[in-house]
Amino acid sequence: MILLAGGSSTRMGQLGKKEFLPLDGGTVLSCAAAAFLKTNLFSTVAVAYPAGELAATKKAFFALSENSDFSEKVIFVQGGETRQESVLRALRSIKKNCKQNEMPQTVLIHDGARPFVSSALVRKTLKAAQKFGAAVPALEPVETQKEIDSKKKIVRHLQRKNLAAVQTPQGFNFEKILQFHERAKKNSLECTDDTEIWDNYAEQKAHVIPGEIKNIKITYPKDVAKNFRENENRIGLGYDVHRLAEGRPLVLGGVKIPFEKGELGHSDGDALLHAITDAVLGASALGDIGSYFPDTDEKWRGANSKKLLSMAWNDVKKSGWQLQNLDCVIKMQKPKFIPHREKVRNSIAKILGVSQEKIFVKAKTAEGLGDVGRGEAIECQAICLLKRTIKIDD
Ligand code: MG
Repeated sequence: MILLAGGSSTRMGQLGKKEFLPLDGGTVLSCAAAAFLKTNLFSTVAVAYPAGELAATKKAFFALSENSDFSEKVIFVQGGETRQESVLRALRSIKKNCKQNEMPQTVLIHDGARPFVSSALVRKTLKAAQKFGAAVPALEPVETQKEIDSKKKIVRHLQRKNLAAVQTPQGFNFEKILQFHERAKKNSLECTDDTEIWDNYAEQKAHVIPGEIKNIKITYPKDVAKNFRENENRIGLGYDVHRLAEGRPLVLGGVKIPFEKGELGHSDGDALLHAITDAVLGASALGDIGSYFPDTDEKWRGANSKKLLSMAWNDVKKSGWQLQNLDCVIKMQKPKFIPHREKVRNSIAKILGVSQEKIFVKAKTAEGLGDVGRGEAIECQAICLLKRTIKIDD
């Protein structure tokens, strides 16, 4: 079989090559390949890759570990300028790679950007291609189709029942499709897919079998968002403890709370904001407060923790994350926290640029136990949920 990943994915914008995007624990390309490999019906798998992208293509292909079980069957072929040229090169490579008596009878050609193809469709296409010489899955178009001219006027009203929107895999008699591709090249015949090449030279036209609605070709960023990136969620956990000392202000969530003691620390000692900073950095896996703002760096001496959280949160947001909610626990013996709660929630919400209802903070005493119970320390915990959605720029 042939898997095509030789194109440039220009319509995907900043997301890059669509076949390399993550999907279901692997990549788009590895998922597309897996549907074929699982059937164990193919002696050779030729993967067409774009010039200069061999290493990236191999990595994407084997991103699903089960694909490695078939590595001996896989050959990587540098693609050409066009899809047609890539198919021809892959067909030639398969021929070269097989001994004369082991030449495949049938070949399936599949787009590497159709990862949702089922093994059942692979089998059905193969069976139909063996029977008819050439077979292709297709769906009846949902929209009514019209033929138009260069002036955007309708010239023909087409009958939907006579139309077929074709998908891949497309299956062919191996020797014949190779021969037809060679002829098309010689005659400089340019076709949009392999059934068109087939129908130009074959006696019997390609046979259409029912396609699958889910077997879409990933083309635009919205396909990616809809299929696997829309609901990426991450949890983050943060914790901090600070000693309490006389003559220091007690700052929690950026709010000064009247009390005779306050947090000791390299910065202003706002243990609650430190725990929150670690929670959001942790969820996004960007780092932690120690790596972002080392206490060995004089720059952060006496720093305003609101500014530290705001800087970290900016980086997290730049990676596409949004806050779903944040919940915190403050463990301190004194003073009473309830009178300050709304002010603290509001302050945190302002730093993060979210509505106050996404933030909650509660306090517990330590029942007189340990450092916190003796009023010598304050502990804070924070847990957050982040959600990421892909930017759709088309
Ligand atoms: Mg701290």
